[in-house]
Amino acid sequence: MEKTSFSKFWKIFWDSVFPNKCAACGKLLYADGMICNDCEHLLGIIGENCCEKCGKPPEDCICGRYTQHYEACVSAVELYEAGKTIVYDFKFKYMTTLKQYMAPLMADALMLRFGEVQFDHIVGVPMRWRAVLKRGYNQSELLAKELAECLGQNYTKGLLVKLRKTKHQASLNAKERLTNLTGAIGIAENADIKGKHILVVDDIITTGATVNECAKVLKENGAASVCCVSFATTVRENV
Ligand SMILES: [Zn+2]
Ligand SMILES: [Zn+2]
Repeated sequence: MEKTSFSKFWKIFWDSVFPNKCAACGKLLYADGMICNDCEHLLGIIGENCCEKCGKPPEDCICGRYTQHYEACVSAVELYEAGKTIVYDFKFKYMTTLKQYMAPLMADALMLRFGEVQFDHIVGVPMRWRAVLKRGYNQSELLAKELAECLGQNYTKGLLVKLRKTKHQASLNAKERLTNLTGAIGIAENADIKGKHILVVDDIITTGATVNECAKVLKENGAASVCCVSFATTVRENV
């Protein structure tokens, strides 16, 4: 058997034993890919219909609720059920290959907003080392690295550091989220950020308090600009 035929045979065998399923609804996929067409339509890709500052659809704009230290936030999708499942599986069920689906959508959203902009550092929102050890990975750093590859730009590992344990943002109300992270994020020693343009990457933006704290610390330490990007942003009742 030729090598190519063998590869084809192996793929058919592999797919029949481990069929490709949609990561959002579990339906069998009969082609390569990670998400079925139905779920992709339900994702709520934001496109151009968003606030230029906070990245949310205009009716969900959060601007003015606090001092925004970032220049702009950009998100790929509105957080509906399909997006929630993708993020949950990516974050808590070790389905790290979903970054290959999420990052290109984030890259598209960035291109749509900024065109061919070049960042000096693309960085993930940091987690406490103990939390990384427990989960096995920092999902924001995985996304940041994948996104940097999509854009052909620099990923800088560990530029931001989590200095102390904080409560989970998801467990707090909007007001508590703003103070929970105060002083909890720092910059790695010898980080070269003076006058640099930095992109901070997270999986979800809710109030934007987390990425805003990252932006604040980066600006205080001399960054020229800070933009933020997430796969999803919460809308309506979730704000
Ligand atoms: Zn599906
Ligand atoms: Zn806004």
